[in-house]
Amino acid sequence: MSATTSPTPAGLGFNFDNTYASLPGHFFERIHPVPVAAPRLLVLNHALSDALGLDTAALDSAEGAAVLAGNRVPAGAQPIAQAYAGHQFGHFTMLGDGRAILLGEHVTPGGERFDIQLKGSGRTRFSRRGDGRAALGPMLREYIVSEAMHALGIPTTRSLAVVATGEHVFRETRLPGAILTRVAASHIRVGTFEYAASQGNREDLRTLAQYTIDRHFPELRETENPILALLASVLARQASLVARWLHVGFIHGVMNTDNMSLCGESIDFGPCAFMDAYDPATVFSSIDTGGRYAYGNQPSIAQWNLTRFAETLLPLLHDSEDQAVEMATAVLETFPAVFRDFWVAGMRAKLGLFGDEDGDADLAQALLALMREEGADYTRTLRDLCRDPLPDTPFFLGEGFKVWHDRWQARLKLQREPLHEARRLMRAHNPAVIPRNHRVEEALEAAGKGDASVLTRLLRALEKPYEDIPAHAAYAEPPARPNTEYRTFCGT
Ligand code: AMP
Ligand code: MG
Repeated sequence: MSATTSPTPAGLGFNFDNTYASLPGHFFERIHPVPVAAPRLLVLNHALSDALGLDTAALDSAEGAAVLAGNRVPAGAQPIAQAYAGHQFGHFTMLGDGRAILLGEHVTPGGERFDIQLKGSGRTRFSRRGDGRAALGPMLREYIVSEAMHALGIPTTRSLAVVATGEHVFRETRLPGAILTRVAASHIRVGTFEYAASQGNREDLRTLAQYTIDRHFPELRETENPILALLASVLARQASLVARWLHVGFIHGVMNTDNMSLCGESIDFGPCAFMDAYDPATVFSSIDTGGRYAYGNQPSIAQWNLTRFAETLLPLLHDSEDQAVEMATAVLETFPAVFRDFWVAGMRAKLGLFGDEDGDADLAQALLALMREEGADYTRTLRDLCRDPLPDTPFFLGEGFKVWHDRWQARLKLQREPLHEARRLMRAHNPAVIPRNHRVEEALEAAGKGDASVLTRLLRALEKPYEDIPAHAAYAEPPARPNTEYRTFCGT
């Protein structure tokens, strides 16, 4: 143990090996979390803690709460706030961890490396005018949505715990403060590269690129042009991720370049939500007045963000800028086709289609167009489509659907797989339970009043989204009245 780490009576199972702190010093600030008044553990993710090889019983104690609140730094941690920049709603800004601290990289008994980050842990060099803190509601929302994403099988950062700080934060009103412990494959963002590029030091940029390849894409080291391969790999992961978001009706809400993780995990669940009635124009974020990050815009925004990423790589791609631009452009232009392949593959599974036929994409689009016309609930309609016979809903009884249904049946008959196999495939790709907005809000509201039971029940229901569990049936229900006015806030 190094002489500088503050001693903790027990390690809580953390096994830190901090590589990010070996990057050039301007990539981060060494800083400890600012202690809070009265840490109280509100939620602890036992399954995740166990999977990480942590000492779950020790974490679930006053001492654990002290560590998860940042009041105690565990042995082996080397806390830092990371520097990054980003395009926010299209505008370049210098950012950085203004309210988060990376405790370090925990290596699991299986050898996997995860960032352990406290979000809401106090001011840093990057806080600008912010207080460095987070309110309880948004931290619980991130916990709920990230864990739901994980259960849905979509790459995402995870949530280990939420601790109440015993302090208030001041937003429009006075709110209880909290700290989220986020677990991520890393926090390297498009914005991290934008930061490095903005510093104008090609060697530091190369160091970051090499670090990223070593950490997330080691297979690219042997390729002819690893930087170009990095761009293509990041592109493929983003295309796949956004396709998966669309498949489950998810709207990230703030796809700024600082909120796009290079390893392809969903990250920074601010004003995000799952839509109820299908409409690609759906926006939930209170700050997204122009609809930039609407549901249906997410693929093109991903490509826009990847273009910002590609720009940072130009000095590393080729000594000739023209050549570098040509190489990057050729990769970026593949995005629509790469995205479409992921999207169609997922839609095939949602419709029980094996193999691929030319008309599959059109078939899926035709169903979505009908759902949009009818204002059909996205998740519920697709889950109901897995049933035999179909339930007598107004949507399924409609004339438009009957025409579509005949087309679908004809396609199903083209494949060798029996119908029960098709239905099994569909059930594995059309969730029954998603974190619906009205359920998330009722859980946050109760938790704000000190009652965590509603949250606990919701989290339980979200664990097995692809199963029909009678006790969780209520969580599969759309809201009694569609709420198109639903808005979520950035949580800052
Ligand atoms: P986010 O909306 O969480 O993606 O944050 C965008 C940027 O604002 C990041 O640089 C954050 O660190 C910073 N930020 C957000 N909230 C706060 C806060 N309360 N105090 C300081 N910085 C903040
Ligand atoms: Mg962010």
